Amino acid sequence: MDCPYCGKEMEEGMIQNRYPLIWRKGTNRHEIKWVSKEDITLSRSIVNGAAIKVFYCRDCKKMIIDCADPHSDLNNYDPYHY
Ligand SMILES: [Zn+2]
Repeated sequence: MDCPYCGKEMEEGMIQNRYPLIWRKGTNRHEIKWVSKEDITLSRSIVNGAAIKVFYCRDCKKMIIDCADPHSDLNNYDPYHY
């Protein structure tokens, strides 16, 4: 993926966590167990935790998650169909 700011190739990496990774509108912290309809679950926490593919540009220090790609959630990885 090319960086939308500078156009250079971005590095593919990941963010992982022991608990689910959830995007939530606003910046007020809530109990994570109260998931609302507006929340976006990026990756559920399974045996090895949650993990989401993230592209990073070191020059611009920007990160991008492609939420439209089902393979961004590394817990959706299926070795037989990938
Ligand atoms: Zn960039």
